Amino acid sequence: MDSYKAERERMIEHQIAGRGIKNKDVLEAMRSVPRHLLLPKSDWDYAYGDFPVRIGSGQTISQPFIVALMTELLDVRPADRVLDVGTGSGYQAAILAELASEVHSIERYPDLADSASKKLASLGYTNIHVHTGDGTLGYPPAAPYDRIIVTAASPSIPEALLSQLANEGRLVIPVGSRHLQHLEVWNRKGDDFRHESSIPVVFVPLIGEQGWDAND
Ligand code: SAM
Repeated sequence: MDSYKAERERMIEHQIAGRGIKNKDVLEAMRSVPRHLLLPKSDWDYAYGDFPVRIGSGQTISQPFIVALMTELLDVRPADRVLDVGTGSGYQAAILAELASEVHSIERYPDLADSASKKLASLGYTNIHVHTGDGTLGYPPAAPYDRIIVTAASPSIPEALLSQLANEGRLVIPVGSRHLQHLEVWNRKGDDFRHESSIPVVFVPLIGEQGWDAND
């Protein structure tokens, strides 16, 4: 019995569909994933609120609307193989796993990666592989990816991620300063990479070789 089902429905009605997210598969994925179970039990009552929630190690799980918007912009298809940079709680990875055939998710904090991996396994996801490491370098062993999503703020687009994008692939990433970014959508056609900017957002920093320095 999922006692948070009604809260999840309200979240979808008011925060997601109510704000213009139309993709039926994205709405269905957000209806299916029990977001609260990816948070510590003490935070379950905040899981469906219209705000980010702290998840430990100074990190956050994004506001539900931002997860929905980024997923809609990513335009995931059933056969896609996806790279998710910034596992955090594992919620975005679970949403992607509802839509794609295979998800590789990479997180720089080993404790977050470990906790997300265990929770995702206990929810029955067999198509998510969680890795610990610097996601600014992508995850070369499973490249190329049809879709790449980055859920931490980058000062510029990491070249390693563009190089691990499959032909006809798409990448969604927040790019900008430490305090304000814009979502960018990159499309690859052969050697041609083009991007468009979407809405302003605020994410925690992407820290690594092709992102921010931890001391910045
Ligand atoms: N997608 C997550 C979720 O659904 O809970 C939320 C992501 S949180 C906003 C950003 C995450 O990116 C943090 O967990 C942070 O530790 C991680 N991160 C930052 N730099 C990273 C890097 N270079 N490689 C992998 N993860 C990184």
